[in-house]
Amino acid sequence: NINLLNKSGPCRWTLKKNGSMNVDAVFFGDVNIILQLDETTVRQVRDVASLPGVAGPVCVMPDAHSGYGFPIGGVAAFDVDHGVISAGGVGFDISCGVRTLTTGLKRQDLFSCDVKLADALFKKIPAGTGVGGAIHLDGNLMDEMLSGGAAWVVGRKMGRPEDLGRIEGNGRNEFAAPSKVSAKAKQRMINQLGSLGSGNHYLEVQYVEKIFDNEKAAGFGVEVDDVVVSIHCGSRGLGHQIAKDYLPLMVDAAPGFGINLPSKDIACAPINSQLGKDYWGAMGAGINCALANRQVLTHLVRECFAEILPQADLKLIYDVSHNTCQKEKFNINGRTKTLYIHRKGATRALGPGHKELPDEFKKIGQPVIIGGSMGTSSYILAGTDESADLSFSSCCHGAGRTMSRIKARKCFKGKKVQKELGRQGIIIRSGSINGIAEEAPSAYKDINGIIKSTEQAEISKAVARLRPLLCIKG
Ligand code: 5GP
Ligand code: MN
Ligand code: MN
Repeated sequence: NINLLNKSGPCRWTLKKNGSMNVDAVFFGDVNIILQLDETTVRQVRDVASLPGVAGPVCVMPDAHSGYGFPIGGVAAFDVDHGVISAGGVGFDISCGVRTLTTGLKRQDLFSCDVKLADALFKKIPAGTGVGGAIHLDGNLMDEMLSGGAAWVVGRKMGRPEDLGRIEGNGRNEFAAPSKVSAKAKQRMINQLGSLGSGNHYLEVQYVEKIFDNEKAAGFGVEVDDVVVSIHCGSRGLGHQIAKDYLPLMVDAAPGFGINLPSKDIACAPINSQLGKDYWGAMGAGINCALANRQVLTHLVRECFAEILPQADLKLIYDVSHNTCQKEKFNINGRTKTLYIHRKGATRALGPGHKELPDEFKKIGQPVIIGGSMGTSSYILAGTDESADLSFSSCCHGAGRTMSRIKARKCFKGKKVQKELGRQGIIIRSGSINGIAEEAPSAYKDINGIIKSTEQAEISKAVARLRPLLCIKG
């Protein structure tokens, strides 16, 4: 399959449509990244390209690897009239994403209190499998949260009104339909709002190590040695249950819609069918849940900083999700089309001038926030104009794993990883020592290579490189 790829531009490779594919696929990455693609990922890309109503090329980001049905790092657009929406195309952690905040602090301000800050954050931020959150969602509160997203949280005095302009969709998905979310999904969320979850979800205090573009960095509000805070988490049990509820419904309904599924993992329903609309509404509620979750966590982080470093002022740079389906407009062959863009393990990366960007970012493009690992760099990039035509305004979302969690646990010892990172001046706090082993920096690909490919392909440009100071791991 990889032999069928043709170089179509810098760090861009095209798989021409063949067999059951309805459209081409475009893979982003340098030769090394392309050679490391596994057959399952390529097969999944072909499956996605075979779905009804798929529009334009299926895009595959440099950090891509195989996932449930759709690959992680995959972007697929579907026509509003003939296309489908897929629960597997959004993923299990609906609206998982990252937000980064400036603090007004310099790296030196943490020298004498980094351990104290790490311990305070670890105590304050609920993290780990099944660990409950800061807020109990009784009675109407659940549906209010699912309709209101981060805006609802800010309305309850956990956040600043100006936070909302720095969140995709102003902190709220307007299409959310809480009535389309099962009682079981809601039950799983009752005491989970304001919690990090497990695995690769994190709260990291970082410093700006390098600036690549002074003007854009100034626009985002970052300089060398600035301390920033990044929060990576999603919609917890609720998003997971929505996927679990809708996947079998979509598998069962597919033959009735005349859809021949290449594999049942890739289940989908026509956007215009009742089932498609129901999932769209439920997923929107899942998006609001994730936005609300990151907002509550931000409130807790601010409280923590207020105690230990009262001079800190935490301002949101941006909050961007990387597991979504969103309705967006693109120019295709000179005509404006409304498309449903699935981004699974892929970040939206709007270029300068896009009307959905806050005014402050209209000239520089959207902040694109990308995690590396708890021991390597993370990046803030800016969206480009080119990405609209190349990748439906999308970019990678991380480094991507080099090995499974099981393999990582065999290769690394959590205690040793923590100690080694400590020697590099990085403080790790986690409830799970196995989790630290699974998340060892060497279990992830080289983030610098991924970013280089992203830049060469012109789907985003680097603005700042971040290094971890302390990391609270789920
Ligand atoms: P995912 O959304 O697929 O769960 O993870 C996104 C990305 O976050 C991963 O591909 C990885 O590169 C990055 N990541 C995972 N753990 C950490 C961490 O502890 N710190 C940072 N900065 N990035 C991480
Ligand atoms: Mn994520
Ligand atoms: Mn997640």
